Amino acid sequence: MTTRSLAIIGAGPRGTSLLDRISNNIRLGAGDHLHVLIIDPFVAGPGRVWRTDQDHDLVMNTYAGQATLFVDDSVRCVGPREPAGASPDLMEWVDHVRRLTIDDNHDWADSTYLEKSLLEDHELVAEVARTVPYSHPSRALFGHYLRWFFNRTTALLPVGVTLELVQDRLVDLLDATDGRQRLVLENGAELTADAVVLAIGWLDAQPSPADASLREVAAAAGLGIIEPQNPFEQRVDQLPAGEPVIVRGFGMGFFDLVSRVTLGRGGRFEPVASVSAAHGHQLGASELVYHASGQEPVLHVGSGRGIPFRTKTLYGSVPPNTPQANLRALSIDPNRNDLDFNAEVLPAIRRDAVIAYYTTLAQSEPDAFVTDAAELIASLADSDEDAWDDLIAGAVPVASRRWSLSEVHDPTRGQTFESPRAFTAWLDRHVEADLVEASRGSASALKAAAWSLGQARGAIVPLIQFGRLSPDSFASGYQPFQALGNMLASGPPAFRLAQLRALIAAGIVRPVGPRISVTVKQGADGPNFVASSPAVSGSAVSARWLVDAWMHGNAVTTSREPLIGTLLARGEIRPHTLTGGPEPRELGALDVERHSLRLLDHHGTAHPRRHAIGIPTESAVFFTTISPIPKSNASLLRETDAVARAVLSELNIGVAAATHS
Ligand SMILES: Cc1cc2nc3c(=O)[nH]c(=O)nc-3n(C[C@H](O)[C@H](O)[C@H](O)COP(=O)(O)OP(=O)(O)OC[C@H]3O[C@@H](n4cnc5c(N)ncnc54)[C@H](O)[C@@H]3O)c2cc1C
Repeated sequence: MTTRSLAIIGAGPRGTSLLDRISNNIRLGAGDHLHVLIIDPFVAGPGRVWRTDQDHDLVMNTYAGQATLFVDDSVRCVGPREPAGASPDLMEWVDHVRRLTIDDNHDWADSTYLEKSLLEDHELVAEVARTVPYSHPSRALFGHYLRWFFNRTTALLPVGVTLELVQDRLVDLLDATDGRQRLVLENGAELTADAVVLAIGWLDAQPSPADASLREVAAAAGLGIIEPQNPFEQRVDQLPAGEPVIVRGFGMGFFDLVSRVTLGRGGRFEPVASVSAAHGHQLGASELVYHASGQEPVLHVGSGRGIPFRTKTLYGSVPPNTPQANLRALSIDPNRNDLDFNAEVLPAIRRDAVIAYYTTLAQSEPDAFVTDAAELIASLADSDEDAWDDLIAGAVPVASRRWSLSEVHDPTRGQTFESPRAFTAWLDRHVEADLVEASRGSASALKAAAWSLGQARGAIVPLIQFGRLSPDSFASGYQPFQALGNMLASGPPAFRLAQLRALIAAGIVRPVGPRISVTVKQGADGPNFVASSPAVSGSAVSARWLVDAWMHGNAVTTSREPLIGTLLARGEIRPHTLTGGPEPRELGALDVERHSLRLLDHHGTAHPRRHAIGIPTESAVFFTTISPIPKSNASLLRETDAVARAVLSELNIGVAAATHS
């Protein structure tokens, strides 16, 4: 008889999935025992990001039909998969909850594993009633799904597996003399385990040197800064009503901030017309008018591009999969470390996107072509990129109906604006045009190309992970591509852009412009933050508050997480470094051994009892931030299955026979 123990650090989606994979893969011998410790200061399942007590107006930017934690039959993993019908994704689970909530006499036995607080929360019950596969659910609702999944997993643990939940933070990890792991908690207690897996997700970070000095100057001047953070954790209640506030960031964090200081302070939006109906489309965001509560601050917002992320397309279903035919045809030697992203990967991504554009244009606007569209598409697939402009101009004579990647990349493209009013009017037209495209759904050629670029972020992972990119092309090719993909495909739901237009009209959101800079200056009324854009004359605006509406990327060297700082200082972890060029480039990722995902120390030696998965390893592994999508061979689920099996083997515990290769 043997007893082993495993500590899972972090009980968000990954830690929860890992427990599920341990449960499904373990084959204990008679009398054997595995004790699993789960350590997280937040509630297991939702963890920190998906807390069920957050504002219901904070929504997922993915869809109800696109989230799951079940290993469905699409997942190419070695361990057992879940039978269809017993593995509901978020939408299927919502359907189940809906059936319970419409039955006044529902039997609690049917609600096994659900938290009672869900069925008692009127707002969530109302949300459940209206949710369809292409809704953007509240994060709280997804948190309840994760909690249900966690409850179910713990209830179904095999005989011989016991679970201990520790609601605390791990601050240090030490090797005991017998090789076991000593786990030091924030409260000073110490536990031990035979093996440890870090699934610690998003880590708080130190400010950059420039931001640190801005903070110092601001603090000395008595100005207020709200630092980059999960939007729910930002103390926006400090922002005074009616006063100007400078906001850096026009992505998801901005829309969460807006929601909290408008809807969250008693304001409301009322539909006045349908943008899509005005353009003859069926689906779409309504045009809204905002009724202020009088409690809102005035948000002066700017960013690098100066425009919001593009909205999600309204397909009336979950988004389609894109073929990525050229990208998927690439084959890259896994032992390379000098891959040139710009020369060897990006052309295939561009080719897939341009083909997606003209294929969709041919279907939805055949009158745009003066020659056979199929011929153009075949030529685009075969010809050099240099020949595209001529080929396209010959087939689609009206320039405004062609695709321009440079315009998509930076719509302000060196333009200057004579006043904030002129820039605001331009931005409003830009946002309206984006909403109109979004409401065309799968008939929009622009959105088809954007979605192709966005989905390429996932499709490139097997080509580039574990150090294959050259140091130069990581910075000059991969990072700009990633930023573009995020801007085009990870933007807000359409209703958020409709809200933005209403708030601009109400004077509550005031766009500053692109390439915003912020300094502290002495004014007649004392020191202030001053924000301005070099592209907009007269854009300078002063405020006593600054909000950074974005989150730091993970980086071990700048992490504020005590565990990471301590392990790094002792040389027991190291940042992942790209080596295939004259100058190596150190990235932010926690370095892990390929396949086993064991932590590497500063010599590159893998620790036999420590593994790390997920977001802290981003840029050694890629595209780790997205939750698993059903029927998509989700990498998160493949990873947790592989690590579960590896850890069980390392602990000399029986593992289920391989069910798939
Ligand atoms: C505001 C926000 C919105 C998002 N929206 C979406 C979305 O709409 N769709 C989508 O697909 N993805 C979204 N994401 C990405 C999201 O992070 C992932 O979907 C998912 O939560 C990652 O799961 P994880 O378990 O790896 O990390 P996390 O969810 O970050 O969980 C990690 C857990 O580890 C714990 N932890 C950290 N350090 C320690 C320690 N030292 N000791 C003990 N415990 C520790 C944390 O408390 C946390 O609970 C969003 C992320 C954020 C921050």
